[in-house]
Amino acid sequence: MNDIHHVVLSHYHYDHFSDVGVLLFSRLVNTQLKKVNKPLSIYGPISEQMAKRVEEVPHATFTGYHEESQLKIGPFTLEFKRNMHPVEAYSIKITSGNKTIVYTSDTSYTEDLVNFASGADLLITECSLYEGMDGISSGHMTSKEAGILADKSEAKAVLLTHLPHYGDLNELVKSAKKEGNFNIRLAEVGMVVGV
Ligand SMILES: [Zn+2]
Ligand SMILES: [Zn+2]
Repeated sequence: MNDIHHVVLSHYHYDHFSDVGVLLFSRLVNTQLKKVNKPLSIYGPISEQMAKRVEEVPHATFTGYHEESQLKIGPFTLEFKRNMHPVEAYSIKITSGNKTIVYTSDTSYTEDLVNFASGADLLITECSLYEGMDGISSGHMTSKEAGILADKSEAKAVLLTHLPHYGDLNELVKSAKKEGNFNIRLAEVGMVVGV
């Protein structure tokens, strides 16, 4: 954890930010033990509450963003698109040189998302539901919708993530590939992907 210096949060649902508190505490302790000497920078949708919670920890900073923001983090430029989700949430585009990675976080399918992800070298798309389920009302995507996004955006490689905790996950890949983009895989813990 001492190698992590920047964390970008897409929204404040517990499955996306609850580990930040542990990370902040770890940085505090390991800074005191002189195991690390760099601050931890947390980025997220603008939130006074989050800013206060992060910045009460020494060696940590919070930077809020909104849809028009552009963040520069080392060699990376980050841009954001507001999602369709029960709370304020963003898709994130990371660019370095001529390479782009787009991460949808949690969202229903929208045509805007196709434009935002257009031509991505790597699209990391949520895939919370199986084909035939209702993504729109829950603020998530089915495998079919993730497949449509993958195909229409012409993403060069696609990872399905935010997967359901039931059923046969290989069915998600089969369903998504039917829409025409064949370079689709399931995300895995510890996975390293070259772009
Ligand atoms: Zn969410
Ligand atoms: Zn989520």
